[in-house]
Amino acid sequence: VLRFETFSSTVEPEFWAGLAHHKLHSAQLDTKRTTIRGEFVGGRRHAVRGNGQTGPLQKVAVPARLRVKQDAWTIAENDTQKQQQQQQQPGVLVGVDGYLHNTNTVEEFKRYDKGELLRSVGAEVLDAIRSGKATQKPELLWPFLLLTFADLKKYLFHHWFAFPAVTADPPDTVTEVPVPISKFVARDTDLTQLLDEFAAFSIANADFCGTFVARYSPDAPEKRWYIGALTEWDEVCGSAHDGMAILGFVDPSSHATRPGWPLRNLLTWLRHQHPEVSQTRVLCFRDAALSQGKVSAAAQKCESIVLQVNVTPAVLLTAECRVSGWERDATQRLAPRTVDLSSTMDPERLATSALDLNLQLMRWRLAPEIDLARIAGTRALLVGAGTLGAYVARALLAWGVRKITFVDNGRVSFSNPPRQPLYEFADSVDGGKPKAEAAASSMRRIFPRVDAHGVQLSVPMPGHGVAAAEVEGTRAAAAQLEKLVVEHDVVFLLTDSRESRWLPTMLGALHRKLVLCVALGFDSFVAMRHGIVSDHDSNTGGPGTVERLGCYFCNDVVAPTDSLADRTLDQQCTVTRPGIAPIASGIAVELLATTLQHPLGGLAPAPVGGDAADGGNEGVFGAPAHQVRGYLTGFRQHAIVGQASSLCTACSPRVIEAYRQHGFDFLLRAGAANVPANYSYLETLTGLAELHRQTDRMLEDIEWSEDE
Ligand SMILES: [Zn+2]
Repeated sequence: VLRFETFSSTVEPEFWAGLAHHKLHSAQLDTKRTTIRGEFVGGRRHAVRGNGQTGPLQKVAVPARLRVKQDAWTIAENDTQKQQQQQQQPGVLVGVDGYLHNTNTVEEFKRYDKGELLRSVGAEVLDAIRSGKATQKPELLWPFLLLTFADLKKYLFHHWFAFPAVTADPPDTVTEVPVPISKFVARDTDLTQLLDEFAAFSIANADFCGTFVARYSPDAPEKRWYIGALTEWDEVCGSAHDGMAILGFVDPSSHATRPGWPLRNLLTWLRHQHPEVSQTRVLCFRDAALSQGKVSAAAQKCESIVLQVNVTPAVLLTAECRVSGWERDATQRLAPRTVDLSSTMDPERLATSALDLNLQLMRWRLAPEIDLARIAGTRALLVGAGTLGAYVARALLAWGVRKITFVDNGRVSFSNPPRQPLYEFADSVDGGKPKAEAAASSMRRIFPRVDAHGVQLSVPMPGHGVAAAEVEGTRAAAAQLEKLVVEHDVVFLLTDSRESRWLPTMLGALHRKLVLCVALGFDSFVAMRHGIVSDHDSNTGGPGTVERLGCYFCNDVVAPTDSLADRTLDQQCTVTRPGIAPIASGIAVELLATTLQHPLGGLAPAPVGGDAADGGNEGVFGAPAHQVRGYLTGFRQHAIVGQASSLCTACSPRVIEAYRQHGFDFLLRAGAANVPANYSYLETLTGLAELHRQTDRMLEDIEWSEDE
């Protein structure tokens, strides 16, 4: 019985991209079959030495393949391109059309009547044979089938190839073992002549697609081989010639003795087109590559074989059209396959890896020591989703930070979108969207893999009285803010009022979080990090500084040294020169990045004096500054240092301890004064009020960070 070596499908990943494009842009929900172009790629047998290069040479077979690529759709519609495809490797590549059936659901894919699909294509092949079309265009003998379901949400491609073969029952048989071509020919020169003739034929026939008829006349004086098209069968086999007629095909099989799958339908062609033939020689031509100018020494390398086949006459077939050909999967079961391309095709993943690559380039080229994961893994809480919040969020995103939470109680107003790059005009109509959530959803539009959330929340403020009806709401807001502070690693203070920074500053100090604060003047800014309260920070004594960097409110007491300052910097200003917010936000985020790359993190000391100039030598980016102050007037920028004050209304141990003991009641008292920005209770608590009354004494007690 004649057995055949089947095909394996090879799908280039770009083909699936092509299928996704085809479905989205042309087919959509249409499930009619479309023609695609594939190509047969011959199998190969390689000699491999086993046992660590000492064992005997063994032949390892790479199976014959049908390959489809991204251009499967375009080539199928263009005869010129088909010829070009063929001519790239004449005689080696055999291009064929196939039929794609793309289903819309996985159920449809599973339920598809695969038997009927195969039979119908087999019947088409038979029609093409009987009508003579296949004789003119033998490619019609080998349409392939591809049934698919493309899950474009998950980038899963379920697919099943079939190579429809009209089978003979009873089967065709071989009368003897296959003969290697080198033994079949009478002399070596006949072999080289065969290779030459084949090469000439395949190049001369632009439509050559793998079949031929050959006549071998070993006794002829010179030209012993003739190769022609299938249409020449009668001529070649006619009694006018001596020599033997041979049916030939480019055999993709890499099996030593079995011919490849295309022979099945070629024998069907012979059976129906030439019913008088009951026996034929078949040349399984496997040396097309050798004929490409490598004819010398070909004899030893030749893989072609010659079969003697007994053809079952059509009249004896038990069934006219039996078809087989669904591809088996990797475990040899008749089952579909699934390709998961989510890691290579999902645009969200592509965006993620593109961002990661961008950051990695920094590591590869400029800062090999940088710990990108330390930055990217930082969970950032942004109190304030206005101009500063928007710029800080963008810069954090560019650093790879994934977890970003906005806190804001406002709505997007008409004036916001031009200055605040997370909002658009549409966000500001109809009263405006809540800012925090609008900012978060904007971030997700910019980068879908960001874990951005918005929390609509009014930050409780000292000095703002709390009406009885609002107590519970304020209590809930304070609790929610504290929970948010606990759940994040870094807190950015980006609101436009002093009072709204107080509670998050205090909570950041209480929970020992890294706090970064940005404040703007009309044409000046300060960007600073708050010192983290360390375990031994128990200086609750009289007025003075404690050994850590100050917070935004410490500046009230211990004015940072800046001899060049010509105005009060901490003034809150919502009317600012537009360039100042992105500058200050960028510096704040870089201050964070520098701090996170320092071995001591948030406990890193700030460079002072000479160190300030070069940033010190510790940490990938040097020592992180404490405060950066900048002015557009004169374009000056300074890194300065201010120590924490034991009198600070926000971070001093007394305040922290009072909150620890009394919780929300303490906040109520802090807000009870009902005099905006007065802080009288806090000032009394911390001794600041006393301090104000004794200014002279205070000045003696305060250690300035730099010489005045
Ligand atoms: Zn402080």
